[in-house]
Amino acid sequence: MSTQFYNSLTRKKEIFKPIEPGKVKLYTCGPTVYDTAHIGNFRAFMFEDLLKRYLLLKGFEVNHIMNITDVDDKTIKRSFDENIPISELTKKYTGRFFEDLKVLKILPADNYPKATNHVPAMVRMIENLVKNKNAYIADDGSVYFAIDSYHDYGQLINLDFSQQKRSNRILADEYTKEKPQDFVLWKSWKEKEGDIFWDSPWGKGRPGWHIECSAMSTEYLGNHFDIHCGGVDNLFPHHENEIAQSVCATEEPFVNIWMHCEYLLVEKGKMSKSQGNYFRISDLIEKGFSGEILRYILLNTHYRSKLNFTMDKKHEAEQVIQRITDLYDRLLSINNTVENNASLPKEYSQFERALDNDLDTPVALAIFFEWVRKTNIKLDSDSLQEKEAESGVYFLDKVNSIFDLIKENIEVPKEVLDLVNVRQKARQENDWVLSDKLRYKINDLGWIVEDTLTGQKCKPLKS
Ligand code: AMP
Ligand code: ZN
Repeated sequence: MSTQFYNSLTRKKEIFKPIEPGKVKLYTCGPTVYDTAHIGNFRAFMFEDLLKRYLLLKGFEVNHIMNITDVDDKTIKRSFDENIPISELTKKYTGRFFEDLKVLKILPADNYPKATNHVPAMVRMIENLVKNKNAYIADDGSVYFAIDSYHDYGQLINLDFSQQKRSNRILADEYTKEKPQDFVLWKSWKEKEGDIFWDSPWGKGRPGWHIECSAMSTEYLGNHFDIHCGGVDNLFPHHENEIAQSVCATEEPFVNIWMHCEYLLVEKGKMSKSQGNYFRISDLIEKGFSGEILRYILLNTHYRSKLNFTMDKKHEAEQVIQRITDLYDRLLSINNTVENNASLPKEYSQFERALDNDLDTPVALAIFFEWVRKTNIKLDSDSLQEKEAESGVYFLDKVNSIFDLIKENIEVPKEVLDLVNVRQKARQENDWVLSDKLRYKINDLGWIVEDTLTGQKCKPLKS
């Protein structure tokens, strides 16, 4: 079966075929760094991590860009409310975001462009839109996109706006889908915004939120790229507006596949600070959750179904993580090297088929758990062959390259970690001779280093 993903634009599953064979260009909307990201935001980032890990497992090279929204209505408001410079505010929350990504073992993107570093590219794009008569300049120097200049407006949310009169212009970044309005591309400077402005052909001002993603995605990935992701709340107006701006400014197709994950709800409701059901990753770690437990909870529901996060999910997840980690250790104690020609258990192809079907993680995990159950029975009755242990380790490594659920409870000595870090640098510089030398040095210290899809992993050599 070939890999299929559900495309929000065509509202059907499509066989995935990148524009350039073997290479995937992926853009995912990143955090708005005016506050600490919550578990709902991380549902979106975890789904994107799943997608990227699966593409890597399938052998694609992935160029992944995630923007950091460090100037918009929310960041400006918060910096005034807290009376601190916007750069200080966004630096603090960007730092927290990266810490949380690490806790959740989310693979880093290739680049995290910040909006404030890309304003000239946004201005260039808006200039094109004005030139192409898709945008107009208001009396105060703000620039708006004229939605009736783009006849396909509404394609992503499947609403026909062509009969509706545009009711108004809107300066804010959000509005309701029932009332499509000309949206702002460039917001003219207001005195209360102090020193937050950039110069432009239309005077002092700042970009609207939507143009930030259009400009940064095309700057890093080209005008036409493969996949663009976000949560369902991004469909409208953010992604609808991104399509309109990008297609009209570049006069080329924009994105082939749009993928969106459903909402995360807490105790069946919307997260709200006043109701005490608003969770940041650090809150959950304090309550005894770990990165692996959170990964399991977030990935065990299909990304296109709503996920109801409840505290009692922790217990089941803890047991699952322990069971998988124990099985891995038991298999490693029988066989801890996987030869190049190692085979995989028959369940692997079923597991892969489930993920090929629009990343069906609940089915993939169910297949995997059934194999775990059978393998434990064989181990308990001492009937597992060494070759089966080898293919078991291989299967677990593959599953872990997607789900990353196995607890890393072995303490790797600092001396070994230092060599691993030097080796990583050598590999980045294509110095394979040094990389091999370091591998042998690590072996001499009693450790094995493996190059996995998700980076270098260390295991003790079998004694
Ligand atoms: P923001 O920082 O608000 O721009 O959001 C970052 C990402 O989190 C976006 O892709 C949103 O669509 C996503 N997101 C926000 N809230 C939720 C939620 N409750 N469930 C799933 N995704 C969400
Ligand atoms: Zn975006």
